[in-house]
Order: sequence, then C-alpha cells, then structure tokens
Amino acid sequence: MRKISLRFRFNSLLSVAFLPPAFFSTVFSATAQEPSTAPIVLHASRLLEVDTGNMLQPGEILVEGERIKAVGTTVDHPQGAKVIDLGDTTLLPGLIDAHVHLFLHPGAEDLQTVEESVPWRTILAEQAAKADLMAGFTAERDMGTEGAGSADTAVRNAINQGLIPGPRLRVSGNAIDILGGHEDANRFNPAQHVLSNADYANTAAEIVSVMREQHKEGSDFAKVYETGPDRMVPAGSPPCMGDPICAQIETSEEPGDPEFWEFHTPYQYTEEQLKAAVAEAARLDTNVGVHCQGEPGARFAAEAGVASIDHATQLSEATMKMMKQKHIPAVPTFTIFEYFADHVPTPAAAAREHAILDYKIHEFRRQVAAGVPMAVGSDVGPFPHGTQARELELMVKYGMTPLAVLQADYLNGAQILTWQNEIGELKPGYDADIIAVPGNPLDDISVVEHVSFVMKGGVVVRR
Ligand SMILES: [Zn+2]
Repeated sequence: MRKISLRFRFNSLLSVAFLPPAFFSTVFSATAQEPSTAPIVLHASRLLEVDTGNMLQPGEILVEGERIKAVGTTVDHPQGAKVIDLGDTTLLPGLIDAHVHLFLHPGAEDLQTVEESVPWRTILAEQAAKADLMAGFTAERDMGTEGAGSADTAVRNAINQGLIPGPRLRVSGNAIDILGGHEDANRFNPAQHVLSNADYANTAAEIVSVMREQHKEGSDFAKVYETGPDRMVPAGSPPCMGDPICAQIETSEEPGDPEFWEFHTPYQYTEEQLKAAVAEAARLDTNVGVHCQGEPGARFAAEAGVASIDHATQLSEATMKMMKQKHIPAVPTFTIFEYFADHVPTPAAAAREHAILDYKIHEFRRQVAAGVPMAVGSDVGPFPHGTQARELELMVKYGMTPLAVLQADYLNGAQILTWQNEIGELKPGYDADIIAVPGNPLDDISVVEHVSFVMKGGVVVRR
C-alpha cells in the first residue's frame, strides 16, 4: 500500500538508516549457499506441530540436503550427522509474509519511487530481502515493485541461484491499476508526465494483456489495486466526488467509532473484470492478489475468486460468508496502519490514520467472529524490513489466539503463495525452512520478533 502525495512529503532518507540491528550483527556469507552434504539434526526444548497445535517437548528435526527427513521428540542421528543444540527455544517453520514490498523503504509518503532509479531500488531491495530473511521470513509474496517493473525477477532469481540471501519469493512486477487510480501519480503537474507506480489496465482485455506482458517478464502472479483512495468521513457525509481535501477529517469526534465515522473506498474494477484476471491467472497456473480495503470491491474480489483480500478493512456479511466458503483469506496488514498512524507530520493526518486503524480493529474482530480465514501479511517496506513479525503480535492483540495466528501465517500463507505441502509445516518431505525462537510462542507470540536461528532450504543462514 502506497500513495504518492506531495502534501505529506517526508524527508527522503535512504533506507540504510532504518535497517534493523540484526542486519548489521549477522554475519552472512553472500556467496552461493549449498545445503550441507552431511545430515543435520536440530534439537530444541520445544517444536510446534502447526496443523495439530501440539507442542513437542523436546523437539528434533533431521535435515538431509534441502529437505526435512524426520520430525519428533527424537529422530535418528545418522552417522556423521551434525547436531545443532538450540537449547531453550521453540522450533517453528520459517515465517511467511504474504504481503511485502522489497522495493520500498521507510518514508511512506515521500517521492522515493520518482526520485530513485530502478538500479538503485534493486540494490536496496536486495538489502531488504536479506533483512527479512534474517528476521526469520523464509517465504514472501512481493505485492508490487511500485514502479520498478519486473526488477523483482532479478532479485528472486539471484536468491534462487544462491547469489544473494533472501526468502523464497513470489513476485508480481508492477501492480495493475486503472488510469487515475489508487497508485497513479495523480495531481502532479501534467506537463511533467510523472509515471504511475503501476501498469495501466482499464478493461478486462487490457488486464489480460498486462498480465501476459508481466508473465513474459517473469512474474509469478498478478497484483491488482481494487479499491482506493480511502477516506473516513463523519457519518452521513455527502460523497467527496474526487475532491482530495474532502477526505481530510476533523479531529473533534471519536476516531474510528462507527457511530461517528464511515469508511468509504471506491472500487476500481468490476466483478467481471476481476473474473477475467482470475481466469487468465488460472490459465497461467497462478493467482491474483488484490489491494482491497472495502465494499463493494471486496465482494467483487471474493466473487471472482482471488487468492486473498489484502487490507480487508471493511467486509460485508455476505463477503465474509463467501470468503469462509471459498477459503479466501483476509490479510489485515495491521503493522502498516500502525506505522502510518504513528509517523504522520500533522495532528489532522494522525487523526485520520488513527481513525482508520480503530475502524479496522473493530472490523477485524467482526471478521474473526465470522470465521473469515486469515493470513499474515505486513505490507513491510514503508516501515523497516526485518521488523514485520510485529504483525503476528498485533493479530493476537486484536483478537486471535497465538496458535490461530501461527496457523494463519503458515497454512494460509503457503496456500496463497501456492507452496502448499512444501513450506509452512515441519513434516518429512517439506523444504527445510526452519527457525528457532526463544521461549514458547503459544504463551507469548512476541517471541517471533526475536528469531535466534534461521535455516532456509537446509542452509543455516543465521545462528
Ligand atoms: Zn502493499
């Protein structure tokens, strides 16, 4: 989620100033990483069986090559195996972030996508991928390069070839957006011809054409902007009719209280247009992710059969029921909303962001109660890479159990990334993407923000 705005221009600081301490303290050999030829046995005080919720005590995993060979309270220790005792920690699968932006860095409303070259942004994306991996995220869906086109394929391919460290990636290239839509460079001097951060498509045929172009350039899936811009308005307000000033709220009422405020977000594509996108994605054996804040766009997206509904601030009863029936996860992305609310330049802007966050929390509780499947996606990029495990803590804070959040992250995350039965569980045959966290995440979910060990594909990348 990103909005170009001159009004809220921040200082354009380079992201290196925001990289987390773990980035600097972790020694990583960036040369090609091959899995150990000798088997590895990981031992820790606990191990979470994701699907059952059972906590094995102790827990052991036998890793051979890139994959998990055996899991239990004890496993075979083959001759020559390297045993790594991780002490009083819990073994978990590598975390999955279903909504990231490797090509964005903090400074949410600045002009980074206008001012920075694609080569420079690609170098920063490489650093972002490393920071995310070191924080325990071994698989991510990158929801749009925001104007860097298919440069994400270079990052993905370099990671896959072991040239640079980073998570397994599903990438989309640019997102797809309408002319004058959510991610277009609106209200700049037209004579300057400032480019959109997305690829234009205004009809079903154009959506298919853009998807084919992105596929040609190496995309794994399509990201579509389905709603926006968003606004909180006093209940009963007339529509803004495109007036940007109208979207600013006063600070006098209770932010977020649905009694006082209404959330409005226009849809961008019709149900039929989204169905064309989903059909084309199915032809390419992939799926469609949507930025979708509210109704009626969310209903159109659920009817069309998208992979997930991201942000999902406002969902009707009918949409929630459909998402449950079709098992389409909502991806709340609380962390970005919290970050925006805490990092705005004026009290009026802060009131607006807090109003949306409060409304979002209110709606999330309804969604959890209605049994809407959830996945974990942080929208990291506008806030520092490597810090996004906070998303799991916020989902617990606002109403889910730690186990439910972990299952949402792993099982629904693997579904969205179309890596079911390959990642997200500690089972024989799965990729050896394994992390260790101090303590017990079922007692205190915040331990996932302090990952102490990371293995990806059988290679120890952080210890
Ligand atoms: Zn996003």
